[in-house]
Amino acid sequence: MAGRLDSASLPLLQDALAVLEQGFADLPDNPASAGNPEALRKVLLEAAARLRDNYPYFHPHYAGQMLKPPHAVARLAYALAMWINPNNHALDGGRVSSAMEKEAVAGIARMFGWGTHLGHLTSGGTMANLEALWIAGELKPGATVLASSQAHYTHGRISAVLKLPFEAVPADRFGRMDLLALERRLAAGGVGTVVATLGTTATGAVDPLPGILALRDRYGFRLHADCAYGGYYLLADNLDAPARAAFDRLREVDSLVIDPHKHGLQPYGCGCVLFRDPAVGTHYRHDSPYTYFSSSELHLGEISLECSRPGAAAVALWATERLLPLERGGTFARMLQDCRAAALALHAGLAQDARFMTAFPPELDIVVWAVRAQTVAESSRRAQEIFDSAARRGLHLALAGLPVALFGDPWGTGGTVTALRSVLMKPEHRNAVPEIVELLSASTR
Ligand SMILES: *Cc1c(COP(=O)(O)O)cnc(C)c1O
Repeated sequence: MAGRLDSASLPLLQDALAVLEQGFADLPDNPASAGNPEALRKVLLEAAARLRDNYPYFHPHYAGQMLKPPHAVARLAYALAMWINPNNHALDGGRVSSAMEKEAVAGIARMFGWGTHLGHLTSGGTMANLEALWIAGELKPGATVLASSQAHYTHGRISAVLKLPFEAVPADRFGRMDLLALERRLAAGGVGTVVATLGTTATGAVDPLPGILALRDRYGFRLHADCAYGGYYLLADNLDAPARAAFDRLREVDSLVIDPHKHGLQPYGCGCVLFRDPAVGTHYRHDSPYTYFSSSELHLGEISLECSRPGAAAVALWATERLLPLERGGTFARMLQDCRAAALALHAGLAQDARFMTAFPPELDIVVWAVRAQTVAESSRRAQEIFDSAARRGLHLALAGLPVALFGDPWGTGGTVTALRSVLMKPEHRNAVPEIVELLSASTR
């Protein structure tokens, strides 16, 4: 059993807590208030037993949805900070964790090539996109927001919250925004903002950013990049040319979103929004009598829609960037390259199997495939069977309703098919691909 959950690093937390506690040695003694230790133990073990009822997200045989274990350094730093529980709303509530947030966010901005920026952490990608589209709406009031039909479903909903008109631009057979359709819509007028997705949630497709930038030159819209999933792939050295070209020009967008809790090795509760022009900060101006501003320095609460935010998330991200700098050629970049290599290997294995239809080689680390069958309904039914059968063998995949066009519409029906989907987000997936292929094959008989 030992080692399954990487618990060997836990004693470090005790050492780190001792260092932290030393910083408060001048305070009078404050007896711990944990209450009855027996009751605490009982409840905690009860929680542990209940938590067994989960898929093994941390294990390479979990190759389903977007779930990636946080790095040990993130887990430990987050836990360490919780003994202080700082609030990064204001410097008074989270003094050093606010400084660490600014450093960690600047690290992400530098990765994208931005020396100056405005940005902060959020509870996740949805909140981060909400802020970006809110600013977009402030700058282009009432104008339409466009995103591809494969963009994250929350863009339509966020636009509705902001009372901005939203329209989906069709995706091409690679799941990328269709540039001709985009241009037709732009020519019709009334568009304020285009959302480019670099790494769609369903298939990891990367929208053709160079083409979208060329259209921005002609039509003058605001350009937001949703890189919640794919952003860190900028660092990878094994992307195909179209994805590479998109990431290479990412610095030219007006705003972007990246989720450290997706590929950045963080626990949930860590998204990030970045604006290229720090002047958009003026839109956040508020006059709250509750905000306790004791310092003239920037309080992150002044540039955030959310008020209280976990300082612990900032400490965890800061520590992770210290250990694993966001550099091309570095360890962190290699971890992403391994994920992509795993996806390419799985795709190659599936492409050779006559029982399956692959869509296209993965642009990042998400593989989708459909089951060959006489009808769409039969293909969908078989996908569900294989999904269940694989789960019984301990291989956890995902199902996705995808446009049949992504598979070349072999049935000539249009519409969607239930396909199988695998997100290979863990570097360990690279070595696990042969086992995954074998288990899948056995589950398909
Ligand atoms: C996950 C995801 C989101 C939403 O982010 P959350 O952190 O789940 O709120 C938005 N866009 C894309 C492309 C995503 O993959």
